[in-house]
Amino acid sequence: MVIIGNGVVVTRDDNNTFIKNGAVAVDGSKIIEVGTVEEIKGKYKDAEFIDAKGNLIMPGLINTHHHIYSAFARGLNLNNPPAKGFIDILENMWWTIDKKLTLEDVKYSGYTTLIDCIKNGVTTVFDHHASPYAIENSLFTLADVAKEVGIRGSFCYETSDRDGEAITDAGIKENVEFIKYANKENSDMVKGMFGLHAQFTLSDKTLEKCAKEMESLDAGYHVHTAEGIDDLHHCLKEHGKRVVERLMDFDILGEKTLSVHNLHINSREMDILKETKTNLVNNPESNMGNAVGCAPVIEMMKRGLNVGLGTDGYTSDMFESMKVGNLIHKHNLCDSNVAWGEVPKMFFENNRDIASRHFNAEIGALKPGAVADIIVVEYDPLTPMDASNINSHLLFGVNGKSTLTTMVNGKVVMKDRILLTLDEKEIFEKSREVSSKLWSRF
Ligand SMILES: [Zn+2]
Repeated sequence: MVIIGNGVVVTRDDNNTFIKNGAVAVDGSKIIEVGTVEEIKGKYKDAEFIDAKGNLIMPGLINTHHHIYSAFARGLNLNNPPAKGFIDILENMWWTIDKKLTLEDVKYSGYTTLIDCIKNGVTTVFDHHASPYAIENSLFTLADVAKEVGIRGSFCYETSDRDGEAITDAGIKENVEFIKYANKENSDMVKGMFGLHAQFTLSDKTLEKCAKEMESLDAGYHVHTAEGIDDLHHCLKEHGKRVVERLMDFDILGEKTLSVHNLHINSREMDILKETKTNLVNNPESNMGNAVGCAPVIEMMKRGLNVGLGTDGYTSDMFESMKVGNLIHKHNLCDSNVAWGEVPKMFFENNRDIASRHFNAEIGALKPGAVADIIVVEYDPLTPMDASNINSHLLFGVNGKSTLTTMVNGKVVMKDRILLTLDEKEIFEKSREVSSKLWSRF
């Protein structure tokens, strides 16, 4: 048994319980009790004690949309002509890089990105992977790496027609095999989803194939929806309908599906997403970086849609995503009153809901019975802090790298900023070597 205590416990449960001098008791992979440090220490006298030294004790963070494979783009200059729009960004950058990835690249981008997640306090990641010339075993490679790092992960391969039918079919096969493997594994540490790139790179024939495979699988889809305006224009021109309507026609929507971005959608599409209980993910930094616009998140939240928060490969720091999420909607709507409540709800409550739909376990709250994903975040508030203003303290006072200690599923994987599962220095050195080889292939 382990107690993490002597800190400010922020449970992020339904009551947003806040305990000034609190502690969390862990037995195996689960939390068994949350209370004051006196209560918990008195009750579990023999437990190992991890001293939070007055810092924050919080549930591990959840990132509902990430791209591990994008890691080796950092610092890369492809010397392509300047992008004129979102499709140019895909062609000049992402579809150039992913074609060159080998399984070794996948492995080392996995190590470095997932280590970065742990260092930023993220304990559950939903990844969306692409490596069209190294598809077979790519998801299994990422899952093996996640196991070594000690992080909880959902993996999928982004099925797309953009590299020909054989590659489309290989993508479908990898999704199917991985979903079957993960469902059999039943460990609550790894899950599979059916990845789709976006409707504009998928023919009716391919979507029919995917739907047929999904008939016998217990999983959701993970798909980019109306990220750029080109996706909407393509759908209207080629199929005579809007993006969400086309996804609905192939039975892609549903309570386990992640519909990512949703920028260029109208009121009827929002109704469809709500009726099908589909989960949405907003990635504010990525949207700003790609200059694709701003998703109507405030309207979606008003209508009761389940919108989560992700990073889309832009960063692994969810606090950074929260900060940008707080700004983009104010800026977009010219209304300084919005996003104060919506973005923390996306980050904590909705991401928690999304994760719990996939892992058959309570994730993202400190409460008895929930998985023991716990972080200690360094923070000494300069003003009074309580349950009513904790979101303001997190927004303005904390970032991902404030994380001191990370526990996943009851196991301490980082303690006082030192990774315990792997030799971080050695892995980053090897990662520079592997990425330099990748860069030499352009
Ligand atoms: Zn994405």
